[in-house]
Amino acid sequence: MNKPVLVIATYNPNKAAELKAGLAGLGFEILLLSNFTGCFRVEEDGTTFSANAIKKARAAFAFTGYPSLADDSGLEVAALNGAPGVYSHRFAGQDSDDANNALLLEKLAGMPPDRRQARFRCVLALVWGSNQEVTVEGTCSGIILTAPRGAGGFGYDPLFYLPELGRTMAEITREEKYHVSHRGRAVGKLRQMLKAGYFCPQITPEDRTKIESS
Ligand code: IMP
Repeated sequence: MNKPVLVIATYNPNKAAELKAGLAGLGFEILLLSNFTGCFRVEEDGTTFSANAIKKARAAFAFTGYPSLADDSGLEVAALNGAPGVYSHRFAGQDSDDANNALLLEKLAGMPPDRRQARFRCVLALVWGSNQEVTVEGTCSGIILTAPRGAGGFGYDPLFYLPELGRTMAEITREEKYHVSHRGRAVGKLRQMLKAGYFCPQITPEDRTKIESS
């Protein structure tokens, strides 16, 4: 019997790798957007992670015809009133992790450790039909360092210090990141729901056409 398909709906290769690893062993055939011809763009104009995640997952479902999982995530720094938040990806106005990290350091310059508290947030949205969608959220708390450390991960990972591990998010393995990170925690919740048969992955593109035209 064919395995039910689940599409990981992100063009960010780091997110895709983390999500794919986190969803292993559940009996799905995991497809990436690179498995499909063509591409689609979504304007991430929502003011919440949830709104953007749902928008991306709906667009991927419409594009692929398969149940699609999207991630919207970012960093919230308390002393910056939650910024960069949903604007994490383009905090410095360009598509550059280095520029984002430099701007973050600049904005926190001179601030003591107790004012450098931050958290990563990740909302995962799974869409498998019209009005068939769910979101789950994971968070991870840490402290923004004054200089980057480590070569792993992506985005703000080199600046994000995990006090309980004594290392930054860029100094831990992908396996360790899965256990402590916002994305890993969100995936953990989703795994529980998928294991409990929460959604009906057997739906095929043909079924969907029938449902939509009935
Ligand atoms: P999105 O693609 O709009 O969800 O933007 C997510 C942005 O948040 C990324 O480009 C990173 O800057 C940041 N981000 C999200 N998750 C992580 C993570 O696990 N580590 C480091 N940065 C992250």
